[in-house]
This record gives sequence, structure tokens and C-alpha cells, in this order.
Amino acid sequence: MWKGIIREYPDFFRFSDDKNVITIHEGNTPLVQAPRLAQKINPKISIFLKYEGLNPTGSFKDRGMTMAVSRAVESGSKAIICASTGNTSASAAAYAARAGIKAFVVIPEGKIALGKLAQAMIHGATVIKVLGNFDDALNIVKQISQEYPITLVNSLNPHRIEGQKSGAFEICDSLVGGPPDYHSLPVGNAGNITAYWAGYKAYFDYGKIKSLPKMIGFQAEGASPIVQGRIFEKPETIATAIRIGNPASWKKAEQARDDSGGLIDSVSDDEILEAYKMVSSLEGIFCEPASAASIAGLVKKSAQGLFNGGERVVCTLTGHGLKDPDNAIKVSREPVTCEPETKKVLNVLGF
Ligand SMILES: *Cc1c(COP(=O)(O)O)cnc(C)c1O
Repeated sequence: MWKGIIREYPDFFRFSDDKNVITIHEGNTPLVQAPRLAQKINPKISIFLKYEGLNPTGSFKDRGMTMAVSRAVESGSKAIICASTGNTSASAAAYAARAGIKAFVVIPEGKIALGKLAQAMIHGATVIKVLGNFDDALNIVKQISQEYPITLVNSLNPHRIEGQKSGAFEICDSLVGGPPDYHSLPVGNAGNITAYWAGYKAYFDYGKIKSLPKMIGFQAEGASPIVQGRIFEKPETIATAIRIGNPASWKKAEQARDDSGGLIDSVSDDEILEAYKMVSSLEGIFCEPASAASIAGLVKKSAQGLFNGGERVVCTLTGHGLKDPDNAIKVSREPVTCEPETKKVLNVLGF
């Protein structure tokens, strides 16, 4: 039985007392080959999807949260706090419940996907909506965690990034033939691209792999501070999980990009939504819009001639599509309404 990332990778995540390990058995998510998607985007490459939506709270955030909350419990903390565009709060609330400690989550005004809000609420977190953007919310929780005995579990908490390295470990463990040539992922606060790169390097140094992938990250055009080289005061994108104007791990993401020989570019909301529909309709895999930025980026870079053929590319699908049903419904064909008669239904079927 899979025991969660901390107990599965004890050489990398050390705890002197196992009773402090707070886990909901996160990790061990499927790495799914996507031949129909590849056929559409570029038949000469192989695409694999790391489906992080199948973590306990439906996003990769659980990998970092198991570490951050376990370390908080280890140090005697009784409460955690975070600012969040959704998934961090969902994960923090769940792991705090599991640990029997308090969670406070501060969310920015507007545009939080409904499923994520529901998660934070049902797990019993105190949810505070501030009338400002994510960066305002982050400044507030940083200040509170400095002055009160409450542990900050945003990705500024180094244990988050530590735990998120496990995504790279799992890919290396399950992909036949070693690590991929490219690893594509959405970039918001830029913690995940930082963590994956650190994870690949840790595995390389440990002698588990003999090559390293190029890291390719994608921001939404309306929230592309790293690409544009400037803070976005009012970031805007349909992909709320990456609606970040001033990424916490900005410099580290640039380092991951440069050290790996990769790139960070942007994709438009239309390109994101197109990729979002493509992966769900071609592969049966439902991710949230932010996750699809990794695929939209492949479409863009493939068209620009990045790939020669033969490359293996992993895309991290960061969160589950069910978190944000509003966007799914908005971009899909409406159900057809029809009289309760077989003939009428057949008519709709085109028979
Ligand atoms: C948090 C999150 C991101 C962005 O990850 P960063 O580490 O902030 O760059 C992307 N997609 C989803 C679904 C997320 O929850």
C-alpha cells in the first residue's frame, strides 16, 4: 500500500518521530501517455500527463502540504495560515483537519473556483475573504505569521517546495527509459517549477537518473510577470490558480529555467481554454484551466519548432477539473432539451 510521499521517500524526507507525519497518502498519481493529444499537437513527440488532480484534495498542493503541516506539528504548532487562490487553502484545510490543528485561509476577492472554496469550508477552516488581490492577502498572512504563533504554509514555507520535489521522483521512477527530455508546467507563484527542478537534480545527485529535463513553464498572458520582467499589479486570467502578479519564487524559477536550458513563456486565455477542451475531449482527462497552460504551451512551442522529433515531454496537470465546474460548462456544448420520445432523441443523435 502506498504510504504517502514522506514515508515512500525516507531518504529525502526525514522525520525523527513518525507520529508527526501528517499524511492522506498523497502522491503516486498516474503518469498517463497521451497519444491522441500528441497526434493533434505534434505526432513526432511523446506526451505524458502527470495527473495531479488525483491527489487527496485534487491538486499537487498536497505534496507540499503534507511536509509543511508535518513540520508544523513536529515543532509544536497548533495553527496554520495561508493566502490562496484556492488549492492551497483546500489542501491546508484538509491537512490541518487530519492533524487536529486550526487552519486560517485568506482568499482574494472574486474568482475563486467554487469547488476549492467548498473544500476549505467543509474541512472546517476559518475562511477570510479580503477585498484585495492575492498579493494583498499574502502580505497580510506573512505579517500575522511573523507576529503570532501561527505557521505560514504558503510556498514561502520551504517545506512546501521540499515535498513537491516528490512529483519529479515519481516521474523518474515510473517513466521507462529515464527522465523526460522536457517538463512542461503552468507557472503561478513559481514554486512548482522550482520544486520539480530541485527534485530532478536531487535524484541526479543521488545517482538515480543520468540526465535532466529542460524545464518549460507557462504563465497566462494577463499574469506573466516573469515573461515580461515586471510586476503585474492587477493580474487577470481565467486560470485563477496562476493569477499571480508577483511570484514568490520568481528568481528560483528563472534559475530553474536557465540551469535546465528551458524557457518560460506565456499563453493567452483562449489558448488555455482550447488546450483545456483538447485534453478532456481527446484523452478523457479533466484538469482545471490553469493546468492546461502546460499543454497550451506545448501547442505554441511545437508550432514555433521547438521539437525535432523523438522527444518525450511530461506535462504536469496540476489540479482536477471538477474544482471549477463553471468554466467547464461555459466552454462546452449545452445539453440538448428534448421531448420524452425515442424518435425525438434519435433525431438529436442524428439517426
Ligand atoms: C498552485 C497551482 C498552480 C501554480 O503553481 P505555482 O507553484 O504557484 O507556480 C497551477 N495550477 C494549479 C491547479 C495550482 O493549484
